[in-house]
Amino acid sequence: MLEKLSSSLKETIRKIAMAKRIDKHTVDELVRDIQRALIQADVKIALVKEISSRIRERALKEKMVLNPREHVIKVVYEELINIIGKGVEVPLAPQKIMMVGLHGSGKTSSCAKLARYFQKKGLKPAVICADVYRPAAADQLRQLCDKIDVPFYDGAPEGKDVMGIVKAGVKEFEKYDVKIIDTAGRHALEEEMIEEIREIEKRIKPEQRVLILDASIGQQASVQARAFDDAIGITGIIITKMDGTAKGGGALSAVSETNSGVAFIGTGEKVDDFEKFESDGFISRMLGMGDIKSLIEMAEESLEPEDVDLELLKGKFTLKDLYKQLEALKKMGPFKKIMQMLPLGGLGIDFDDQMYQITEDKLKRYKVMMDSMTEEELNEPKIIGGSRLKRIARGSGTTTAEVNELIKYHRLMKKMMKSLTAGRGKIPMMQGMPMDKMMKKMK
Ligand code: GDP
Ligand code: MG
Repeated sequence: MLEKLSSSLKETIRKIAMAKRIDKHTVDELVRDIQRALIQADVKIALVKEISSRIRERALKEKMVLNPREHVIKVVYEELINIIGKGVEVPLAPQKIMMVGLHGSGKTSSCAKLARYFQKKGLKPAVICADVYRPAAADQLRQLCDKIDVPFYDGAPEGKDVMGIVKAGVKEFEKYDVKIIDTAGRHALEEEMIEEIREIEKRIKPEQRVLILDASIGQQASVQARAFDDAIGITGIIITKMDGTAKGGGALSAVSETNSGVAFIGTGEKVDDFEKFESDGFISRMLGMGDIKSLIEMAEESLEPEDVDLELLKGKFTLKDLYKQLEALKKMGPFKKIMQMLPLGGLGIDFDDQMYQITEDKLKRYKVMMDSMTEEELNEPKIIGGSRLKRIARGSGTTTAEVNELIKYHRLMKKMMKSLTAGRGKIPMMQGMPMDKMMKKMK
């Protein structure tokens, strides 16, 4: 997600962390780097100018409580959060949620994703289809709802009376906590669509009026945000397709056109490719400082207490521990996503793409390799060199390259565990991260 922006920003932070001195020259260069990165991500020029002058202003003139490098990094972090605004929270409460946006923005998919979100949190969601213009719309929504076992109301067979359908749907789902209404979009901001959503809003009075913006449209998002906000007063924004575009900065900064903020982001086509948005976590992840809060949330949703063995984090980290850890990680979801949430900025941990794939098959092969190892090797994988390597590969029917991969995994994970439990990476802001708190919570 926004990989290019993230890697440019990380590089910028690294430069600052390594700089011999922080002076006007360093700050000018920093500002230029940030400008370039933000413009490539399609952030509005006016906002780029604003953040530039604020960083210049604050970096050198503000009274510092930290050392100069930490101070500058903190300023960059805070000002980036400032341009995308605070995230908004959709309360976990009974409510009606109306989804609006243009065709193709990801409204229908987001209805299912949002329903799934509430379902995971223990609420009972139901979805109503108010798109009567395209017969395929109801089918698409029904299929998505069936997959997640969420009830669905489709009034289309009764005709094209949108208001009647919405009202009947809301009534039908009286007993459900959260009623999500998928409205019909148009290809452009047509008056007819605006009228229709105004009408629904007036009659149904939904507590949440959520705008869906496609991240790939970049700065175009501003015009849409303003129009929808004028029409019904947007309470939260979902930015979709953050996985497939480098221009996400445009939609993120479009939020400033409304009085609301980003509530969720869509990161793929699947129903679970959906994240609650919090700007501080999002920005620290972009800067390579990890997002511990989101990580805890993901862990809480997917892990059982017995999956997390805290003792192993404290003591030696053996190959058996690694195996357990990989099993737990596999449960939590895509490994790559989890790694991006960890504060690994300065650690130089370098996984290749293949290593991100923790598959059942791979875990099985690891198990076989480990069965071919001696107790000593399991405890101290460091000692596995040439002849041991060959012996293990032969004994397990694998290749030395595979055994090496397992050992590399172990080395990297051990490094990671150490830095996590020590509570600090090399990035200054990581110091004092409440890692012990996170571990307790996971337990
Ligand atoms: P609607 O016309 O606004 O209802 O949009 P849809 O929900 O039908 O989505 C349009 C297309 O975008 C579909 O092919 C979706 O699978 C896809 N899509 C929606 N959200 C995301 C996302 O977050 N990531 C990706 N990669 N695709 C998405
Ligand atoms: Mg749709």
